[in-house]
Amino acid sequence: MMKEEMLRLFEQVFGDQKGVNVYFTPGGVNLLGEHTDYNGGHIVPCSLNIGTYAAARKRTDSRVRFYSQNFDSLGMVESDINHLVYKEEDNWSNYPKGVFWALKNRGYEIPCGMDIVYYGTIPNTSGLSSSASMEVLTVFVCKDLYQLDIDEVQTALIAQCAENEFNGIQDKIMDPFAVAMGKKNYAIFLDTKTLDYEYAPINLDGYKIVIMNSNKRRGLGDSKYNERKEECAEALSKLKKVLPIENLGDLTEELFEKYQNHIGDRILLKRARHAVSENRRTIKAMEALKNNDLQLFGQLINQSGDSLKEDYEMTGKELDVLVETARKQKGVLGARMTGRGFGGCAISIVQEDCVPEFIEKVGKEYREKIGYRADFYVLDIGNGPEILK
Ligand code: ADP
Ligand code: MG
Repeated sequence: MMKEEMLRLFEQVFGDQKGVNVYFTPGGVNLLGEHTDYNGGHIVPCSLNIGTYAAARKRTDSRVRFYSQNFDSLGMVESDINHLVYKEEDNWSNYPKGVFWALKNRGYEIPCGMDIVYYGTIPNTSGLSSSASMEVLTVFVCKDLYQLDIDEVQTALIAQCAENEFNGIQDKIMDPFAVAMGKKNYAIFLDTKTLDYEYAPINLDGYKIVIMNSNKRRGLGDSKYNERKEECAEALSKLKKVLPIENLGDLTEELFEKYQNHIGDRILLKRARHAVSENRRTIKAMEALKNNDLQLFGQLINQSGDSLKEDYEMTGKELDVLVETARKQKGVLGARMTGRGFGGCAISIVQEDCVPEFIEKVGKEYREKIGYRADFYVLDIGNGPEILK
């Protein structure tokens, strides 16, 4: 279905569709393990059944022509593989351009240019990794068309490099990793320090992942994010004086309790407690998934949400209303904020039959209490990158 539409789109933009291939990469979301990445801990993301599609074909010269159906008013943007520079006016195409740049930077041979059209079904800037999806997709297309030897972890790192170094955005490893490594019906357990990972089957039969978008811009989030990072670093330096650890994520809850008084500050202690307990929850969550215990997985999601609110204080009124209201509804296994916090999205796992009522009730209460609407996306865990045959 999508394949034909993408081929038609390619033909509309570039004239014909001879020898064109069509590709897909998913969006992603973090199920558990929030603010653990810079504390040497684990995250548990998954890929989603929404994503980004591309139709592409090699050129014989060095030009690269990009087009996105999502930004059709901007038309075609052209670049050249021998002259890849960030340009404000190139807008969204700086993301895929950054991928070509990152590949060349790492010594991959790009022998010729390409024509490529994109179309995405991920709501942008909602924390569902639309930028990473488009970058990973571009790596995936280059890998196929130029016959490059790139594995999945490298794919994620190249996408991250495009975003961080070419676009100057400090994207976390969660986004490109969830997208590049995603697998239908699996969650990924990633050690953010070593990039070691493992898959856990997640059987959501009869349940849906419901993403609730607060439609609140993060605003405060970025400065608070830096503040939390510093607080964790400070707590860590206090604990390092008495414990042989490198990261807060190295601690068990028992050890933390025993040594927490060495932190000597109530606020720092709360921040560190989140980093420690959240990392332990990711480990417990993996056990729960291996035992097919979705109830326990939901409880861990709730505990994570509580910790982000009480100890990490990264939620804010909008996310609190969404999460509290969600938890009161029928058929809800768990709910919490996801992403950096102070806006963006919350995630919940909801029994399929209860989803319509869930959306209606949470939506209504949110509008009444906050004054504007929330958006809801009802999703499943989807496939990783693929070539559409
Ligand atoms: P998120 O990754 O959380 O969705 P970002 O702000 O990191 O939010 O990325 C959104 C940006 O990524 C968009 O503004 C656009 O520049 C680019 N992008 C994402 N999907 C597409 C697409 N299908 N076509 C063109 N650009 C896209
Ligand atoms: Mg992004």
